[in-house]
Amino acid sequence: MSCDRLKEVEERIQRACEHAGRRREEVLLLGASKSVPSEKLRNFFHCGLRAFGENRVQEFLKKYEDLRDLPVDWHFIGRLQSNKVKYIIDKISLIHSLDRESLLEEIQNRAGRLGKVQEVLIEVNVGGEETKGGVEPENLKEFFEKCLRAKNVKPLGLMCIPPYRENPEEVRPYFALLRSLRDQLEQEFGLKLPHLSMGMSYDFEIAIEEGATIVRIGTLLFGSRV
Ligand SMILES: *Cc1c(COP(=O)(O)O)cnc(C)c1O
Repeated sequence: MSCDRLKEVEERIQRACEHAGRRREEVLLLGASKSVPSEKLRNFFHCGLRAFGENRVQEFLKKYEDLRDLPVDWHFIGRLQSNKVKYIIDKISLIHSLDRESLLEEIQNRAGRLGKVQEVLIEVNVGGEETKGGVEPENLKEFFEKCLRAKNVKPLGLMCIPPYRENPEEVRPYFALLRSLRDQLEQEFGLKLPHLSMGMSYDFEIAIEEGATIVRIGTLLFGSRV
């Protein structure tokens, strides 16, 4: 397999960083790998892509087994049911989709048992869409306080999946909102929240301009989703 697709995305990230006056190392490229078969991920790993984000627990567990021989950095980016936390907690470096108290409690409970501190991002429903997960912006501060009280959970920042817009330029305000919510939390609580997980195939360059530290890219790397 050729590594052309990864190279092209790499170059676009590089250019977006330059354009935004940022260093390339500030942005992690996460392969959004739902529905991509293990062997294809193995090829991408050998091309240099080291971090994959999965959406479904069952599918993730299979790929985790298939690729056990590789030091993949696995993230979880999909909706997470509390009763599935126990299957992934020892395998995932960062959960991007923490968005409710019951899930927080379960992550705390399971991480506590393992003596692990689970790093998480809080997903924010920046578009106020009923069909989407995420904490509402007005409830974020209260939820964040609860996260701080969970000793085995470490919030590292925020994540969003903004509403779809024909023109990616129109997504920019949602990225700016996520960043400003992060900045407010840092100020109010006097701590650092280094990560903003935002930007997908069609809008990642704008996300990088607005401060993304993790871009989650699927289609552009792996081809169309089925
Ligand atoms: C599928 C998915 C992505 C990637 O979307 P593309 O448009 O294919 O790049 C990013 N984030 C989440 C949460 C996803 O489910």
